[in-house]
This record gives sequence, C-alpha cells and structure tokens, in this order.
Amino acid sequence: MSEDYRSMWTDLGLDLVAHDALLSVLGQGYQDIYLSQKNRPEGMAYFDFVMSEVHGLRIKELLDEKAAGRKIVGSFCVFVPEELVLAANATLVGLCSGADFATEDVERLLPRNTCALIKSSFGFKLGKVCPYLESADMIVGENTCDGKKKAYESLGGLVNNLYVMDLPQVKSANGKALLKAEYQRFKAALEDLTGVAITKESLKDAIHTVNAKRAAIHRLSALRKADPAPISGLDALLANQVFFYDNPARFTESVNKICDELEKRIAAKQGVFPAKTPRILVSGCPQAVPNWKLPMIVEAAGAVIVGEESCVGERGTRHLTDASGETVEQMLDAIVDRHFQVDCAIFTPNPDRLEHIQQMVADYHADGVIHYGLQFCQPYLMESMPVEKALEDRQIPCLRIETDYSMEDVGQLKTRIEAFVEQLK
Ligand code: SF4
Ligand code: SF4
Repeated sequence: MSEDYRSMWTDLGLDLVAHDALLSVLGQGYQDIYLSQKNRPEGMAYFDFVMSEVHGLRIKELLDEKAAGRKIVGSFCVFVPEELVLAANATLVGLCSGADFATEDVERLLPRNTCALIKSSFGFKLGKVCPYLESADMIVGENTCDGKKKAYESLGGLVNNLYVMDLPQVKSANGKALLKAEYQRFKAALEDLTGVAITKESLKDAIHTVNAKRAAIHRLSALRKADPAPISGLDALLANQVFFYDNPARFTESVNKICDELEKRIAAKQGVFPAKTPRILVSGCPQAVPNWKLPMIVEAAGAVIVGEESCVGERGTRHLTDASGETVEQMLDAIVDRHFQVDCAIFTPNPDRLEHIQQMVADYHADGVIHYGLQFCQPYLMESMPVEKALEDRQIPCLRIETDYSMEDVGQLKTRIEAFVEQLK
C-alpha cells in the first residue's frame, strides 16, 4: 500500500507501528491460506483485491463518503438493520474482529475468560489498529450475550458515540414489541446523527439494496450444494466476511459474477476438490476476518466445507425483508419480522436453530457437522450439547470444537478433525 494511506492512518489516530504489525500478519496469513489454494474461481480475484485494500482503498472510500457529508455506522451484530442505516444516508460497516491484539491491555479491562471476539474488538481499539472503528461516527453495541452487554459498559469510555441497542432474548409477542421499539429508537438516533429523515422512498430503496446483497450471497450458498463443490469453504467464508464492510452494490455485482462462473463450473462438473470429498457443515459462533483457522484445518484434512450456520453465513443472511410495504411503518414492521427470525443462541428456547442446522445438512448434502464454539461463549457452547444430541438422534456425525484465535491448538485440532474426516469417508 502507498504512503498516501500512511498519512490517512495517521490522521485517523492509528498507531502506525502496531498497525504495520497487524497488516503484516494479515498479509502473510492471507498469502499462506488463500493464495496457496488450487483451482479457485477466477472471480475470487475481486476478494483478493478487497483484502489487499481492506485498510487502504476501502477506508479511503469511507473517508470520501464522510467528506461528502455521509455518516459511518459501525456494528458488531447482524441485529443492527442495515436497511435503516442506508435509508438515513449512512453506511454500515461490521466491526467484529477475528484476531487477537493488545491482549495484555485488554485483560486489564475485561476478564481473561471473555470470548475472543469481544476481546479482539477491544484489542483493536486499545491497540489503535482498526481504521473502521476510528472512522465510525456512531458505534452500535447490542445487548445480546452477557459478555457483550457488560463489555459495552467499558467500551463506552473508550469510543465516541457508542449507542447501545436493547434486544429481546425470548421469541414472544413481548420480545417482538421490544425489537420494534428498539428499531424505532434506532431510527430516530440515526436521523439525529445524519440530519436526514427516513422516508418511504429511501427505506424502500435501502431494503432493495440490502436484499440484493443477501440474495447474491444466497445464490452463492445454493451453488455449494453441488458435488464436486465448485468453491472452497475458505473462499465462501471470505465472501461472507466481506459482506460486512464492502460497498453493497459492488459486493452484489461481484458475488453474482462469481456465481455465473460457478454455474459454468457445475455444468462442466468441475470442482475445487474431487467429487465425493467428505462434506462438512460448520455451525456455531461467527468467524470474523481474519479468522480462517477452522476452514484452513478442515480443508487441509481432505474435506470441504459446504455451508456455515453462522451469523457470518446463513443465519445472518438467509432471510430477505419484505419490500412491499407502502409506508415507513409497514416497512419497519417488515424489518422487525425479518430480524426476529435470526436464531442466535442468545434466545431461549431456540428450537429454530436446531431445525435450521438439520435443514442445512439435508440441503447441502453434508456428511457431518462441526460445531464451532469460541471458548467462554456460553450461549453457543451451551447450545452445542442439544445440537449434538439432535444430530446424533438422526445419525448425523457431529464434532464439537471449542477454540479461540490463537494458533496454539492447531496441532490438536488437526488430529481431531482428521479423525472426524476419516469417519465420514
Ligand atoms: S451470534 Fe448473536 S450476538 Fe453474535 S452477531 Fe449473531 S446475532 Fe449477533
Ligand atoms: S461469540 Fe458468544 S460470547 Fe462472544 S460475542 Fe458472540 S455470543 Fe457473545
């Protein structure tokens, strides 16, 4: 990246030495894990470019948007509705972080036994290495798991303009009413931030834009049903990760281009791995950039990942928002309906997720499931037990993994995953 970006990073208040260290780890990881893959779709060149410019060109675009009067909103969760953000003339970027950083500083603010995802978000802030966080005019936290909601109490002292959204924990009429009230409050906060009133026209446009992006990633997911798989799990995960911070229209176009290419591959029976390669569904915690540890191990072990039951995956993107409303109120209701279907493990009880996992196993012709839980993530680790039981009852092999972002357990994970893949053959 050029020196122009260095002055941009300085202006954003980044620590250039720490930031260089992060970019170097990220670049090396990408080189080793992604660029060494064989047989990738040509369309993945777009994502290689996006990743090479993740702290460069994309940040410049966001800063240009800010200079033109647009606001940037950062979020940590798929419950923050992008439709409302876009309709208020702002841009939403994901802030979930998938790498350890400034761990010692983080552990002065958060207990050691906090999940890696929360610690990483704090580490990126304390280490002054995240240009997305530093560009954001509003950061939205949400009361999902206990770890996040308590961590936001500390994060509020570290960032400007933290907005905390309350979220229901039960799928009841009261729960839905709370979600609607919170989305109304969020709408007002966005209008206040941007000075732009959300109209039925702007909201309808925004719903169409976000639906198009979700539809493109669904199209990509559906193509993974083919055997041989036309795209690796690593590449499909990357597309799902980039979903959270790319320009929506450009993302949609780029994913659709890859899908056109994958359709040709499928017609020609061309895959990234041979036909009959063991097929695995990954289910559980979100895997944020640059957390590629699990698919790297699984696909090196001779299996292919064919789907992610995750917020960086189908849980977060599978539902579209009904765009047929004629008033802002009707469309807001549609946004509530859409998001109320997200079956995050923070909900109790959460039977929809169990059904969705089984449905995905059938749809993607998966031979087995790896349940991916981050250490200290109570909601997903607790739920991994009923998931395993439900799968066992249907003779679907399941491997429960509990890990973090460090590479210390790679050897042990490799051994367990290789044995699991052997069992599926
Ligand atoms: S797993 Fe739950 S808390 Fe995390 S992004 Fe998804 S919905 Fe939000
Ligand atoms: S991974 Fe689990 S503990 Fe961590 S933020 Fe998500 S739900 Fe909370």
